[in-house]
Amino acid sequence: MNTVKQVTLAPGDTIGILGGGQLGRMLALAAARLGLKCQVYSPDPDSPAFDVVQNATCAEYADVEALELFAADVNVVTYEFENVPAATAMVLAARRPVLPDTRVLETTQDRLAEKDFVTGLGLATTRYAEVSSAAGLRAAVAAIGLPAVLKTRRFGYDGKGQVTIRAGDDLDAAWARLATRAAILEAFVPFEREISVVAARGADGRVVSFDVTENEHHNHILKVSRAPARIAPTLADEARTIAATIAEALGYIGVLGVEMFVVADNGKGRLLVNEIAPRVHNSGHWTLDGCSVSQFEQHIRAIAGWPLAEPVRHGEVTMTNLIGDEVEDYARWLTVPGATVHLYGKAAVRPGRKMGHVTQVSQPR
Ligand code: AMP
Repeated sequence: MNTVKQVTLAPGDTIGILGGGQLGRMLALAAARLGLKCQVYSPDPDSPAFDVVQNATCAEYADVEALELFAADVNVVTYEFENVPAATAMVLAARRPVLPDTRVLETTQDRLAEKDFVTGLGLATTRYAEVSSAAGLRAAVAAIGLPAVLKTRRFGYDGKGQVTIRAGDDLDAAWARLATRAAILEAFVPFEREISVVAARGADGRVVSFDVTENEHHNHILKVSRAPARIAPTLADEARTIAATIAEALGYIGVLGVEMFVVADNGKGRLLVNEIAPRVHNSGHWTLDGCSVSQFEQHIRAIAGWPLAEPVRHGEVTMTNLIGDEVEDYARWLTVPGATVHLYGKAAVRPGRKMGHVTQVSQPR
């Protein structure tokens, strides 16, 4: 494939964003502050990111003509979700730089490829096995043990496409429930806490990470992030090194999120990599109000070929997601002293849908 390499943008240039959700919206807002324009490409006419840009392309990801016109309008292309179809990325990469590089998608779209990649770097993950049939599931359970989590290899997010299996559960029923032929079984991790590192790698190869964030999930969906995570400084350094190792090995340009489990190990914490998100990450939303530079600006700087900022956190930061009908409480949040409210402008409220978030910053006592 003939790919177009990195460019350095100038104010007034245009960034093409694939995907029109809240991440695309917040990327476009950050770009605007730096004097850069964005054009958003999304098949959904109700895309929240369309509201904040002047130019949008509403077309299917397989629409080659629309992709070519989009590429002609922009200087560089990025994406706000990892399930960009390979063919879409190829059409665009032949015409404009696509950052992060489209090879990153091949690794991160497939949980098995991603886990193999991470373990290949000498980093720890939970034990896992490939599963492609009910018989394969029985063999994997024999090898991994229970409890375990069965996950689809592709297109899973926010707990979708996964089933927890406990001793005594019917394996055939679990396999049928997942309705896939490509899955992995992971040993259930009895974690002390979940953390993530949001890191940026610039075009010059420099990696800058934000403070490690601690994440609380409700029903598999991120509910609250706190920065900094309540972990020992040595463990935090280790987490940042893991994220930098991954970013370097991928030749990554832009912001990525690495989710990790902290497990107890002889009175110390040990880290297991859970997932890599090749994009800005929900656990980094606190940086918008709690830090001198946001993850969104950092991503824009990286793909523009500009210097990364050195982030300085403003205090202890809590980010609370407004999920589903929780958004109806926005008027109360508007009156909470010190709270900063973000609403994504999504028309339809659905259970589990991320509708907005609130950031609160306090000075450490
Ligand atoms: P994921 O889609 O892999 O990020 O999973 C979503 C959430 O499910 C994680 O943030 C954890 O809270 C939980 N989870 C996923 N995998 C495991 C595992 N192997 N053991 C325990 N909890 C898990």
